[in-house]
Formats: sequence, C-alpha cells, structure tokens
Amino acid sequence: MSVSHFPPRDPRPPRDPGPSRDPLALAPEDCGRGHACQFCPQEEECRLEKGHHEKRLIESRLAKIGQIIMVMANKGGVGKSTVSANLAAGLAARGYRVGVADADIHGPNQSRFFGFVGQRVRLGGNGLTPRAFEAEGVEHPLRVGSLAFMMESDDTPIVWRDAYKHDFMHHLIGSFDWGPLDFLVIDMPPGTGNELITLADLLEGHDVAALLATTPQEVALMDSLKAVRFCQERQLPLLGVVENMAGVTCPHCGGEFHLFPRAHLAEALAEVEVDSLAQIPLSPALASGSDSGQPIVLAAPDGPEARAFAPVVEACVAHARQGFAEAAAHSLQALASEAGDELEAALASVPPEQRDAVRHELQAQFAGLLGDAPRPPDPDDVTR
Ligand code: ADP
Repeated sequence: MSVSHFPPRDPRPPRDPGPSRDPLALAPEDCGRGHACQFCPQEEECRLEKGHHEKRLIESRLAKIGQIIMVMANKGGVGKSTVSANLAAGLAARGYRVGVADADIHGPNQSRFFGFVGQRVRLGGNGLTPRAFEAEGVEHPLRVGSLAFMMESDDTPIVWRDAYKHDFMHHLIGSFDWGPLDFLVIDMPPGTGNELITLADLLEGHDVAALLATTPQEVALMDSLKAVRFCQERQLPLLGVVENMAGVTCPHCGGEFHLFPRAHLAEALAEVEVDSLAQIPLSPALASGSDSGQPIVLAAPDGPEARAFAPVVEACVAHARQGFAEAAAHSLQALASEAGDELEAALASVPPEQRDAVRHELQAQFAGLLGDAPRPPDPDDVTR
C-alpha cells in the first residue's frame, strides 16, 4: 500500500524560501546539531542562542509530520494510553507512517504497550532515535518516543517542577528524530494543566486535532467536559469522544452488560455537540495485549476490540484527508493568483497594441487565472 497519502501540505516549494520560511535552512548562528542543547557535550562552552536552536529543531520536526492527534483525558486511568496505542496501531495497519509520542510525563506507559520495557534510546547525529515497533501487516514500523526511554530505570519515580515539564514537552517533539510521518499520536498527560497548554502552544499553526478518552461514569464525565471546553476555547478540532470500558461481554454466557450507565454521557455530549466515536468494551484481551506489548488491534485484527476501535481510526483518517484537501485547494488558489500576477507582469513587456490580444489568448488557455480584459480588437473593425 502506498503511504504517500498526505504529501507535504504545500506541494510547491517556496520560490525564495528565505531564512524565516525554511525551518531547515541554517541560520548563521546555528550549530546544525539535530538534538536539544541538554544532550550536547558542548553545552557548557556553547555561546549560541539556545532558544533559537530549540525553536528551529521543533519546526524542522513538525514540518515533516502530516497530522497530529492529541489523545486527551481529564482523568488518569480511563484508558487514554490504551486508546493512543491502539489508534496508532490501527493507523499503521492501514499503511500510514505513524509515530507515538508519550507525553504522559507522570506515567509513561507506551514503552510497555509496545513491548519496549527497560529499553533505552540512542542519541544519533539527528537526535534521539525512537524505538521501532514492527508487527505482521505493518508496512512501516511505528516510531515510539517516550520519557521512559530516558530514565535510569523504569521504576524511577518522577517528580516534575513546572519548568522541567515545559522543557520535556519541547524535548519530546524536538529531540526525537520522528522522520516523515503521516500521523503523530500524542498520549497527553491527564488534565488541562500546564503540559497541555505548553503543547497546544508549541503545536499552534500545525495540523492538530484532539480525541477525548473517557469512561461513562459521572465523575469522569464531569472532568471530560472541562477538556471539551479547553478544545473549544483553543479552537482545537475535537474529533470526538472515545468511551472506554463501555460494556462487558460475559466470558461464560456471552451476554453483554454495562458497568456504568451511559445515558448521562450521551446527553452531556449531545449538549456540547461532541460526537461519541466509539464504545470500547472492558476486555481482558485488551488489557493483556497492552501488558504484553501487543496492541490488540494488531494481535486480533478481526476481534471485537479492533472492530470497536475502527471508527476512531476512520475519524482520524477522514479528518486528515479533509485537511489535506483544504490545504491543496488553498495552495492551488495561491498558485493561480501567483501565476496571474506573474502573467500580468509579463504582459507589461508586450507592446501595448498587442497586449489585449495576448491577454485574451492566455485567458483562453488558463481560464480564470487572469483578470478581465477588454474585448480584443476586431481586425475587421474599420472604425479603429
Ligand atoms: P490512562 O492512560 O488513562 O491512565 P491506561 O490506558 O494506562 O489509562 O489504562 C489503565 C489500565 O486499564 C491499563 O492496565 C489498561 O491495560 C487497562 N485498560 C484500559 N482500557 C481497558 C479496557 N477497555 N479493557 C480492559 N482493560 C483496560
């Protein structure tokens, strides 16, 4: 399957990129290193401007990423990481190039969900190399980046001061060499605190959409509505809610029942005009797939869990496609108006008596690109 589904947003390179338009162009004070200053052996003696370096690094990473999906939850334990991992796996199974950025700084779990517990990452010439998760049916290995890969040991407790949280969010996007991706799924920390605001600021201007993971019970629901408001205030497209632990199938009789009543959730979502995309069952296979590092959507692609996740994957693909179509239309419009300006400039050098005729000829060739011209002179018009 071809994966060039989402080519860069503006397929036409700028004519004169200039230093501010090309994030990869080396400014005079750039050191050219592909990783954050904190990893650099020359950090102490370096006198270059570090803020500039970091900004450039982040921009260069983001320039190669098609669609970013932030998976949010206003509460820990509702299955946000599970949703992130299975969404990423589902996208990869469809042939997309996918990365998973584990931004859950208090409990980074993606290393477990993709079977990398205890593993570390290396610092290459172009930054930290994400771990590559391979599985049958996945053409492009998933690229996983997590704080867990940078800890001394997996059970080290993490206590964060706000300034470090801010730094970590920058590291996660800037220091990992994500490479070209169709989708980057970000497993957010729970809540609508500093981390979310930092990341939303960092990603502003890029193609970002959010998904909200919740369980149907009342307390989680109340909290989730805060996240809905956050998205609305930030004008962050919220693709919908993923209801996790939404039902149980009895392993003995096969009957289905709900642990938490979902009527209130449905009502509340309708009130804030947010779609419920999927209801993921409470499932022992889902939990053990996560624990053993095999996302269930890949381990059992025809099972009930994979079927439950399918609409979430579909919603992300549909959103990215729509964004790409809009960006392509926008690029074409820009191209048309640029071409129109250039042709008008070229027409200025045509002798005035021939200009209208040439303009009309060009108009016939490139309908709609040029402005209206007076009727061309009629050679039989003897009054001229
Ligand atoms: P969060 O990221 O919101 O803190 P996790 O995704 O880490 O939550 O899930 C917490 C625990 O619940 C994990 O052990 C996970 O495997 C389990 N879990 C999550 N969703 C389900 C589910 N639908 N069925 C069974 N276990 C689940």
